[in-house]
Amino acid sequence: MTENVVVLGAGYAGTGAIKKLESELGDNVRLTWIADVDYHLVLHESHRVIRDPDVRSDVTFPVDDVASPSTRFIQAEVTGLDVDERVVELEDAENVEYDYVLVALGSQTAFYGIPGLEEHSLTLKSLDDALEIHEAVKEASQEATRGDPAQIVIGGAGLSGIQTAGEIAEFRDEHRAPIEIHLVEALEEIFPGNDPEIQQALRDLLEDAGVHIHTDDPITEATDEQIEFDEGDPLEYDVLVWTGGITGQDALDEADLENEHNRVTTEANFQTSDERVFAVGDSAIVDQGDQPAPPTAQAAWQAAEVVGENIARAIENRPLKTWEYDDKGTVVSVGDKAVAHDVKPAFGISLPVDTFGGLPAETLKKMIAARWIKDVTSVNEARKSWSSL
Ligand SMILES: Cc1cc2nc3c(=O)[nH]c(=O)nc-3n(C[C@H](O)[C@H](O)[C@H](O)COP(=O)(O)OP(=O)(O)OC[C@H]3O[C@@H](n4cnc5c(N)ncnc54)[C@H](O)[C@@H]3O)c2cc1C
Repeated sequence: MTENVVVLGAGYAGTGAIKKLESELGDNVRLTWIADVDYHLVLHESHRVIRDPDVRSDVTFPVDDVASPSTRFIQAEVTGLDVDERVVELEDAENVEYDYVLVALGSQTAFYGIPGLEEHSLTLKSLDDALEIHEAVKEASQEATRGDPAQIVIGGAGLSGIQTAGEIAEFRDEHRAPIEIHLVEALEEIFPGNDPEIQQALRDLLEDAGVHIHTDDPITEATDEQIEFDEGDPLEYDVLVWTGGITGQDALDEADLENEHNRVTTEANFQTSDERVFAVGDSAIVDQGDQPAPPTAQAAWQAAEVVGENIARAIENRPLKTWEYDDKGTVVSVGDKAVAHDVKPAFGISLPVDTFGGLPAETLKKMIAARWIKDVTSVNEARKSWSSL
C-alpha cells in the first residue's frame, strides 16, 4: 500500500524535512510538499531585503531547486487540518489526504491584544513583508527633511527587531536619508533572556549606528500617529514595525491537536497528540524538559533532520528517536557588523572568548547562512549569495 506523507511549509523546518524524507523514504511512499510560496526563504536573513530589495534573489530559492522531481509540490495556502478525516484543507485548491503530515508552517506575529498595534504596524515574516518595510521606509524618508526626519519605530528588540534596526541604519547611511530610528523594548534590556555580555555588545553597536534605544516601558496602545507607553511620553512615528513576539498560525485554529496559542505541543520526538501528525520549527512547542526548544532557525534546522527520520520510522513501525536541542551559540547582525556569543567550535574556528565582534563574527554570520543554503541547494548557490548575507 502506498503511504501519503505531506509536509506543510517551506521554511527551515519544512525544507530540511523534505531533504531528509527524500533520502529516507522508500518507493512505497508518496511525498507531497505544500506551501503558500514556491520558494524557500532564508527568513533569518530577510532583514537584508529591507536595506536593498535586490538581495531577494540571494535569500530565496525555488522549491524546484530544493526538492527532487518525484516530490509533488502544491502552492496553496493551508487553511485547516482535519485530523479525523486526515485531510489538509487548502484555499482555492482541493483538499489533500495524508497518512502522516508534518506541520512546519512557522509562526505569525503576536500583538498581545495591544489596542491599535495590529492595525497600524508592519510585520516581518515573509519576503513581501520585508519589501513592504523597505518601501515604507523609503517613502517616509523621501517626504522628510534633515530638520524633520522620518521617524521609524521598531517595537520588540529580539533577533528580528535588532537586525531590522541595523539594516534601516545602513539604508539611512547609504542613501543619506533623513531618518531617525527608535528601537523599543518592554523589558529591561534589549535581546531579553540572553547573556548581559551580548546584550551590551549589541547595544553598543546599535548606539554606534545611531539607533535610539527605549527599554523598560511597555507599549500600551498604537494610534495612527504615535505609540503610547505605560509610563513614558508617547513616540510619534511615520513607520511602525512590530516584531515583539510570535504565536501559532491561524490555519491551526480549529485543528484538534494539543496546542498553546496555535503552536502545537509535541513530545521530544515531534509527535503531537495525534500520532499521525508531527510538528516542528516555530509551529511547534517541542518538549525538552524544563524549557521547550527556542523558536529559532538554528533549532528548526537541527530538528528537521530528526523529524524527517522519525516519520520514516513511524511508517516502518520502528521506535522514534528523541531529539535534544544543541545550542551552538548566537550570532546577530547590526547592519554589516555582527556580534557572536557562546559559539561552539565549528568550521574549524575556536575562539578563547565568549562574546566577540569584528571580522570573525561577521564572517561566522555569513558562514552560517551559506552552509544552510549549500545544504538545501548547492555550493554554487551559497557562493552566489555570500556577499548579500
Ligand atoms: C528578521 C528575522 C531575523 C531572524 N534572525 C534569526 C537568527 O539570526 N538566528 C536564528 O536562529 N533565527 C532567527 N530568526 C528566527 C527564524 O527565522 C525562525 O525561527 C525560523 O524561520 C523558523 O523556521 P520554520 O521553518 O519553523 O518557519 P518559517 O521559516 O517561518 O517557514 C514557514 C513556512 O510556512 C509557510 N506558510 C506559513 N503559513 C502558511 C499557510 N497558511 N499555508 C501554506 N504555507 C504557509 C511559509 O511561507 C514558510 O514557507 C529570525 C527571524 C526573523 C523574522
